[in-house]
Amino acid sequence: QIIEWGSLGQLAEALQASGARKRVFVVTDSAVGALYAGAIHALLEQGGLEPHIFTVPAGEGSKSLRCFELVLGWLVEQHAERTDPVIAFGGGVVGDLTGFVAASYRRGVPLVQVPTTLLAQVDSAIGGKTGINHPLGKNLIGAFYQPGLIFVDPVTLLTLPERAYREGWAEIVKYGVIMDAELFTMLEERLPELERRGADLLTQVVARCIRLKMDVVQGDERDGGLRNILNYGHTFGHALEATTEYGTWLHGEAVSIGMEVAGYIAVAHGLLSQAELARQRKLSQAIGLPIACPGVDGEAILVAMQHDKKVQDGRTRWILPTRIGHSQMYSDIPVELVREAIAVV
Ligand code: NAD
Repeated sequence: QIIEWGSLGQLAEALQASGARKRVFVVTDSAVGALYAGAIHALLEQGGLEPHIFTVPAGEGSKSLRCFELVLGWLVEQHAERTDPVIAFGGGVVGDLTGFVAASYRRGVPLVQVPTTLLAQVDSAIGGKTGINHPLGKNLIGAFYQPGLIFVDPVTLLTLPERAYREGWAEIVKYGVIMDAELFTMLEERLPELERRGADLLTQVVARCIRLKMDVVQGDERDGGLRNILNYGHTFGHALEATTEYGTWLHGEAVSIGMEVAGYIAVAHGLLSQAELARQRKLSQAIGLPIACPGVDGEAILVAMQHDKKVQDGRTRWILPTRIGHSQMYSDIPVELVREAIAVV
């Protein structure tokens, strides 16, 4: 993978080094395309490639069977060949959709991820999970399909709207809490730089998170065990997103509230100290992430949590921190305690 501030100018070269010959097929969304499509087209052409660009509407709605069909139809019409790379240029929506298209078209063509949101750079573009939503549920259709190249230029984060930028930090706080105390301290100490989207901090943090996720995924590519720790804050977060029909909270915001719920459970269960939970809470708040969701229907969330992929034999398995930088999976958390945590948060 390539992670470098200002590296977009070398995209054509990197594509050629990873096997691209002439034609490359770029998928982006309307918002990212409006900002970058012209420049990307020009620099790929200057680099000796023949770029073709397809734009889907911005937003989660594009992770649909309809869009999947449209992108595939475009590749068929363009006579894209089996060795022509398909490039996902955008956030997690474009990455998931395009990844699944690349996994399916001609039973698999080379995939390149060029993530442009913080969430996609530190999380969704890494690990090979691709897919789309079914009208009855999120991410129900998809495939594990690894990109041949992950190309990250954190400069693209400078155009990200404020809320989308902050949301991405939730996953970074998550990495800190579950497995990297040093990263957590670095965030605490360098908040002003984080606010101003400093090149040095962003590049360092993105590279570090990518390495963390790759290490975890390498040990557990298909989500059987170790990879579960990446779901810290997600058990509650996914349920909150589902019960509010994905309209109220962005994913990272729901995860941030979910980390607060999990932190409360960890403290009440005697696993984590109040002081450590307070550090997590303080950092999330300082970043501008929500840590409470008053007025939500706790019982509906409990029901939604039963659909979580970590439920096994009817028991929800919780990823809980034991200290900043360390976490474990627990399946003996009484539902009464979960109910209490949701009520408090
Ligand atoms: P997104 O792709 O919808 O991007 C958010 C918004 O920012 C969009 O409107 C997009 O057009 C805009 N945008 C993207 N890059 C920009 C830039 N550089 N400048 C200006 N605007 C920009 O959302 P996301 O948060 O990146 O991803 C969310 C999706 O990721 C969800 O569908 C989720 O299920 C998925 N996801 C997948 C994985 C995985 O492992 N595959 C992990 C986590 C999340």
